[in-house]
Amino acid sequence: MVSRVIPVDNFDLVIFGGTGDLARRKILPGLFRRYHSGQMPPEARIIGAARSEMDRKGYQAEVKAALEEFVPKGSRSDESIKGFLEGIDYVTIDAMGEGGWKELSAMLRPDVVRAFYFSVAPSLFGPLAERLHGHACAGPTCRIVVEKPFGRDLESAKALNATLRSHFDESQIYRIDHYLGKETVQNLMAVRFGNVLFEPLWNAQYIDHVQITVSESVGVDGRGAYYDKSGAMRDMVQNHLMQLLCLTAMEPPSRFDPDAVRDEKLKVIRALDPVKPEDIVRGQYTDPTKGRAYLEQVGDPDSRTESFIAMKLAISNWRWAGVPFFLRTGKRLKARYSEIAIVFKDAPHSIFGQRAGQHRNVLTIRLQPNEGMDLFVTIKEPGPGGMRLVDVPLDMSFAEALGPDAEDVPDAYERLIMDVIRGNQTLFMRGDEVEAAWAWTDPLINGWTERGDKPLPYETGSTGPEEAAMLLHRDGRRWREIRP
Ligand code: NAP
Repeated sequence: MVSRVIPVDNFDLVIFGGTGDLARRKILPGLFRRYHSGQMPPEARIIGAARSEMDRKGYQAEVKAALEEFVPKGSRSDESIKGFLEGIDYVTIDAMGEGGWKELSAMLRPDVVRAFYFSVAPSLFGPLAERLHGHACAGPTCRIVVEKPFGRDLESAKALNATLRSHFDESQIYRIDHYLGKETVQNLMAVRFGNVLFEPLWNAQYIDHVQITVSESVGVDGRGAYYDKSGAMRDMVQNHLMQLLCLTAMEPPSRFDPDAVRDEKLKVIRALDPVKPEDIVRGQYTDPTKGRAYLEQVGDPDSRTESFIAMKLAISNWRWAGVPFFLRTGKRLKARYSEIAIVFKDAPHSIFGQRAGQHRNVLTIRLQPNEGMDLFVTIKEPGPGGMRLVDVPLDMSFAEALGPDAEDVPDAYERLIMDVIRGNQTLFMRGDEVEAAWAWTDPLINGWTERGDKPLPYETGSTGPEEAAMLLHRDGRRWREIRP
């Protein structure tokens, strides 16, 4: 299979927070890979911006070190690093101050795509937007990329939207959710809407339930203070899991264009029922090693913030009436493993009798590790043992299916940044979508805060609190295994 790399237009990309963790680990290595693959034009420029005093050479040295640390050896060469660094510049700017903006404005070229990546603390999004305008860096065609978290509740998200919209049109605002940039997530749309096979079955008549699992094996570790103000609901469910849910449950858009897709996603969020307290299980990890339990790591023995959440949701519309959606995500679980599983109903009548056992088709969409899909189908167990049935996966691992080309599949950040340059907002959240997600989330958080619910303990390396299993057991279902 031959991968096709379509070069994007020439651009100036300013990364506010160009010296930060995200820029070093994801944004710069991602851009480099696009350069290395020939997608990023050699004349394109990347300008780092932060408070640190540094000149162009100093920043180039930092970028080089980041590439050497985060880009695998086989995906880089001295020559391509050298070429990439030629397009790197730096400007010292404090988002809260007035220095450096004139220099930045002078660096920007009038005739190329202009984008500003806000890879800084959310409290700086507003001041940056304001100063970009005040100092004539922004124009009607430039774009801003805004990192998560986008607010911490409906009120703050509305305020942030209002601030950004007072300086930029919605069509210029790219709210990033890197889950949407994952190859498999987009394949979910390709599988649903590019094949005749699945869509006729994609409804309450044939689907028993859906499970969405995003399991992490790491803890909050160095980010304890930040995480404790947020928790799994704000950090993962309101954005990433909600987006996965929307893509799984949405109606087919009339076109694959930004507003058509986002209109359909918005309808899903608006059709979500409020969740009953008994349908939510929250947990905090424990650990026998000193300093590794959640409460120790966040430094607050009374914290009621959850590092795990599982919930049963209902979508009130014709397609999904009566089909539960189970979501779970947490830290320090058994493995780093994320998947969407569509569990189909039993065959209406088993001609093979009880000895053949009960079997169900399941379509799983794996996000990590090893992105790909499995469709479990029931077949006869080979051998002379009579008609015994067994479920086997029709496995489509992208790495295997695409061979060496799979290595060139861009990671989520690369793809999304290229979409910003192309001016394609399909995989970015619209302001009303983010607000709708908070409008659904807020009452749940307020509910458990007012009731004073305490998260349940769960052991490091487990699958979460026992009660999470009960969410499904009580209806005769069970979670799929979290596989290492
Ligand atoms: P970080 O490592 O703390 O870096 C922050 C960056 O902002 C640094 O470059 C810092 O450089 C710059 N900065 C701080 N104050 C500034 C100011 N007043 N004016 C201009 N620049 C300023 O943070 P990060 O982890 O890269 O995260 C950046 C954003 O991405 C945050 O919104 C975070 O929530 C989000 N995010 C991060 C990750 C991740 O994996 N790291 C994942 C998802 C989302 P100076 O100190 O030199 O100014």
